[in-house]
Amino acid sequence: MGKNIIIVGGGPAGTIAANSLAKKLKKEEASITVIDKTGKHVYEPGLLYLTFGEQDPKDIVRNERDILNKKVSLIVDEATKIDTKREIVELKRGDKLHYDYLIIATGARLCPEEVPGMKEGAYHFYNVDEALKLKDALNKFDKGKIVIGVGGVPYKCPPAPAEIACFLDYKLRRKRIRDKVEIHYLSPLPRIFPIESIDPIVKEIFDKEEIKYTTFFNVESVDPERKEVKSLEGETIGYDLLILIPPHKGSKVIEDSLLGDRGGWVPTDRYTLKVKGYDNVYAIGDATDLPISKSGAAAHYEAKVVANNIASEIKGNESLDKYNGKVVCICDSGNKAIYLKFDYDHPPKSTRPRWIYRLLKLTFNKLYWHTVAKARFL
Ligand SMILES: Cc1cc2nc3c(=O)[nH]c(=O)nc-3n(C[C@H](O)[C@H](O)[C@H](O)COP(=O)(O)OP(=O)(O)OC[C@H]3O[C@@H](n4cnc5c(N)ncnc54)[C@H](O)[C@@H]3O)c2cc1C
Repeated sequence: MGKNIIIVGGGPAGTIAANSLAKKLKKEEASITVIDKTGKHVYEPGLLYLTFGEQDPKDIVRNERDILNKKVSLIVDEATKIDTKREIVELKRGDKLHYDYLIIATGARLCPEEVPGMKEGAYHFYNVDEALKLKDALNKFDKGKIVIGVGGVPYKCPPAPAEIACFLDYKLRRKRIRDKVEIHYLSPLPRIFPIESIDPIVKEIFDKEEIKYTTFFNVESVDPERKEVKSLEGETIGYDLLILIPPHKGSKVIEDSLLGDRGGWVPTDRYTLKVKGYDNVYAIGDATDLPISKSGAAAHYEAKVVANNIASEIKGNESLDKYNGKVVCICDSGNKAIYLKFDYDHPPKSTRPRWIYRLLKLTFNKLYWHTVAKARFL
């Protein structure tokens, strides 16, 4: 009888793993099931473009069933408990599914409630509804001070707050109102950009475009009445419009199954991607505690490693593939972009912003659905 492979989470990580496995294994070798609570697949890099009216929700959200290989079953339900002793995943509506192999790909959970005043006082663009609200607010904004900050670390796509600052600068210049709007960027780190080797380039852009910044600003609370954001370091900064990346935690099922660390991130071996202490349980994508950017690119490469190794094992071969921390990412500033490639041992090399990289990103945004998501070509 074939093996039962259960994948919890149908975002990029879970979908790419499922589609890769479906290509490698025959029906009689394994049954592959994805459990996703929404049944929708969101291409989150598109959220930045949604915020500035360059993409629509239909461009970045698809039905998960339409992306999955026909050999993969989809269950649209929430996993409420993962019981690693009995090798069972429990679903909200009561089903209990046995697994031989489990892949945890539950992503990250946005927790704006963790910052007092954030829900009432700040916008963000980390999901479709909030990105559309921010889009409306920005369309109406014609003068004053926009403050951009981070509500807590870690958060997915570490370059995204700096990207939106640059995007905003570019769009306001095109609207010819840049001189009426101050942009102030708050970084929780001692530098602007999370990656040290790239920070000087981003600093140069911020200085040239007159984007103000304050480093070591770890957000403590927001006062929506006074329109002020306060830091743990004791600073207070006023705003007219505040964009704050919400704090992130692991999925609730990870907490409820006692599988995570304090933040709900799954302790994961950085090379094999096995959940520490288990031989048949893997974690990939944003759900892990890996020391690498929470990014779709990492999710993609991790999913391929896990799919290769599970398929090899089922076929009776040795499983040898290791994840080396590879991430490829293009940071778009509205008219140009920076191309970054790095792994556990090699930080990204310094690179200049170029329009060709932006073109590459815009093309990739369209190709994603037909290539990466379907585990084709790349
Ligand atoms: C604004 C923004 C811009 C970004 N830009 C880039 C970029 O340019 N490049 C890049 O590489 N990355 C980018 N990212 C990051 C990237 O989108 C994420 O890292 C990626 O989506 C992670 O994939 P994932 O499958 O691990 O998690 P997710 O995409 O979060 O998917 C997790 C899935 O699990 C499901 N789930 C969770 N809990 C349960 C449960 N209990 N039961 C059932 N289902 C569950 C959820 O419904 C979801 O479908 C960006 C992110 C944002 C927010």
